[in-house]
This record gives sequence, structure tokens and C-alpha cells, in this order.
Amino acid sequence: MKKGYDVIIIGGGIIGCATAFELAKRGITDVLLIEKRFLTSGASGRCGAGIRQQWGSELNARIALESTNIFEHLEEYTGYSRNCGLHQGGYLLVAYTEKEWDQFQKNLEVQHKLGIDSYAVDIPQIKEICPGINTEGMYGGTFCQKDGHADPFQCTQAYATGAARMGVKFLTYTEVTGLLTEGGKITGVETTRGNFEAKTVINCANVHAPELAKMVGEDVPVISERHQALITEKYAPVLDCMVMSFVKSYYVQQEPNGSFLMGIGTKNEDPSFNFKSSWQFLEENCAVMCDALPFLRKTKVIRQWAGQYDMSPDCNPVIDEAAEAKGFWTVCGFSGHGFMVAPRIGILMANKIAGMDDSMDIAMFSKERFKTGKLLLEPAVV
Ligand SMILES: Cc1cc2nc3c(=O)[nH]c(=O)nc-3n(C[C@H](O)[C@H](O)[C@H](O)COP(=O)(O)OP(=O)(O)OC[C@H]3O[C@@H](n4cnc5c(N)ncnc54)[C@H](O)[C@@H]3O)c2cc1C
Repeated sequence: MKKGYDVIIIGGGIIGCATAFELAKRGITDVLLIEKRFLTSGASGRCGAGIRQQWGSELNARIALESTNIFEHLEEYTGYSRNCGLHQGGYLLVAYTEKEWDQFQKNLEVQHKLGIDSYAVDIPQIKEICPGINTEGMYGGTFCQKDGHADPFQCTQAYATGAARMGVKFLTYTEVTGLLTEGGKITGVETTRGNFEAKTVINCANVHAPELAKMVGEDVPVISERHQALITEKYAPVLDCMVMSFVKSYYVQQEPNGSFLMGIGTKNEDPSFNFKSSWQFLEENCAVMCDALPFLRKTKVIRQWAGQYDMSPDCNPVIDEAAEAKGFWTVCGFSGHGFMVAPRIGILMANKIAGMDDSMDIAMFSKERFKTGKLLLEPAVV
């Protein structure tokens, strides 16, 4: 295996694989992607894979919209022969407080400016969209039919397969353990299988990205937070859309095979790399979900798991080049919504590395914003 590449990508999740694919598409094919375990072994293989355009900031709504446009034909886009499992059954976002309901109206205005086909729904409409839902205490909701979910394993593989076809090399079960620099520039990486050289290194290691960035003196204010999810036995189809509440911090969807996939937000947990499932989550999740959707009381849980959110202070990504190691880029901080934005983020990164124009200014994602106060605020986040 050769030791020198134009670009090295660290991390084989959907962000690393989408970036590799987009680089190759732009003619940068001398790329090595290094993954410490297997592709999708991190958050990408543990996520709900929900895709929604119903955001409250123009930035996120736009990134999600442009990403959805790619998810809609990802197989053709990447030349992948398998199905990526996109199901656009819609997202039903429900409001339990007046404040939230008011915010939803503002969010709709932002979405409509971009042409996103979302709309407000009253209680009878909510019951029609989701028969059996408990609407007690609900003010109303919003719905967008084009939101949905996909198969995170197939989507990541689609990008990886497409990238490999164009010449990108993948090195799995190999950990990046150090970074090589010279004269203020990145020159390569140290790994458990020796050193590899590159003038550009893209750090897509999610919750481990800050540790790597620290090696070249960068303080990336992103922390690792455990989030758990579970899946039930298969049931007859009753729920076509994803149901989500920000205030009660839950989401649930029915998978194509009939299982319900769900999760609730983390409460009172210290930052950690804990991958263990807990009884507390099982109990709390089932209580919240059975209250929201009482028909779930009949379901049996078959599996639960834990993964990590890479949380940034404003719940939006940090994309930055290291000051002391030019050519070393960190791309992390997706704060629980990195799957749905990966297509557009891959394009943004690849355009930057290829020196191509992009309609989005990558500088706004710099961690400098935490010093200047120019935060990327988002009102519609779980
Ligand atoms: C329970 C749960 C539910 C979620 N639901 C959703 C959802 O519905 N919609 C949504 O959009 N997002 C969701 N997310 C978030 C989403 O999963 C992530 O934002 C996204 O997958 C991040 O992709 P990534 O490629 O940055 O990270 P990852 O998939 O974690 O990939 C990073 C990779 O880097 C590797 N790595 C780390 N350190 C090194 C090293 N030193 N050397 C080599 N390799 C290394 C890891 O092994 C890992 O495979 C959810 C996450 C969780 C945990």
C-alpha cells in the first residue's frame, strides 16, 4: 500500500464517506480514508437516520433541503446498486407549549421562504396523520411530507462504494494515533499501521475529533454525549411518519419491516464516551413514548443501544482549519443531526479542498464564532 496521498480523511461515518465521494467527484481521487473500526461503526450506524427540512434557522433548513434533494436519488447519484431505504412518510412535529407553538409558526415562515412544503396542522389533522396519538396538552403541530428517514448503513455504503469506484482507498481497523506537521502545515498521520503522508487531512472523527484536533493545538469546544435508542418487534403498519417533540424530547418512527424505532433526549448526563445501554433509559423512554402514542403499550422491545452526539455550544457543526497546522480540517459538532445534513456538508468540504466556489460560506462554521458571539442559533433542535 502506498504511503502518500493528496488527502487523508479520518473517520468512516457518513460525513467522512460523503466527503470522500464528493472529493473524488471533483477529480481528487488520490484519497485515503482511515477508520479505526468498520464503516458506520460510530454514530452513523447507531442513529435514527431521520431526515427533516423543518428547521427554524434558514441555514439548517437550506442544508437539510439540499441534502434531501440528494437523498431522494442517492442510489443514482453514487451509482449504488442497493436501495438506500429512503421513506418520505413525513415528520409530524408536535407542540406542547404556547411558546413552542409560536416558534413553529416562525419556523414555517423560514421554511416557506425556501420553498419547503411544510404546513401547520390542528388537533383533528394530527389525529388523522397519526391515528392513536394522545393529543392531550398539545397545541398543534407542523408537517412536511418530504421529511422521512433512510437506511444509514446503506447511505454510508453508497457514498463509500461510489468513492472507491473513483479510486478512493479505505483502510479500516486502523486508528489514527498522531498527526505529523512541519513548518505550521500538516504533513500526514501516524496510525496503528504506520505513517501516511498528505498535505490535506480532514478530521471526521465525530466525538473523537476534538482529541485529534488537540494534537495540533486546536481547542474544539465539542463534547460527547450519550444518546440511546431502541427498537421493538415488528407490527402491522400504523405509523407512516416520524413523530417528534422538542419539549418532551422524543422521536418515533416505524421502520419498513414494521419495528418501531424511538429515543428520548439525554437528561442529567455528564459528557462521556459511554456506549452502554441503561435500564433508566428503557424505563423513561417507554413511559414517555407510551404516554404520547398509547398503542405502543402493546409492543415489545427487542433491542436497545447507545451512541454519541458530538455536541457543540450552539448545536451546529464546527468546520475549521487548524491555525498551527494548515491543511488540517476538523468537521464535527453535528449535535444529533449529522446524518441528514451529510450530503450537503460533503459538498461544502469538497468544494473548499478543491478550491471551488460554494454558495455557502464555510467560514461561518468556524469555531471563532464562539469568541465573537456570532452563533448559529437554531430553535428547532431536539
Ligand atoms: C441514538 C442516535 C440517534 C440519532 N438520530 C439522528 C437522526 O435521526 N438524524 C440525524 O441526522 N442524525 C442523527 N444522529 C446523529 C448522527 O448519527 C451523527 O450526527 C452522524 O452520524 C455523524 O456522522 P460522522 O461521520 O460525523 O460520525 P461517525 O459516524 O461517528 O463517524 C466517525 C468515525 O470516526 C472513527 N474514528 C474516531 N476516531 C478515530 C481515529 N482516531 N482513527 C480512525 N478513525 C476514528 C469512528 O470509529 C467512527 O466510525 C443520531 C445519533 C445517535 C447516537
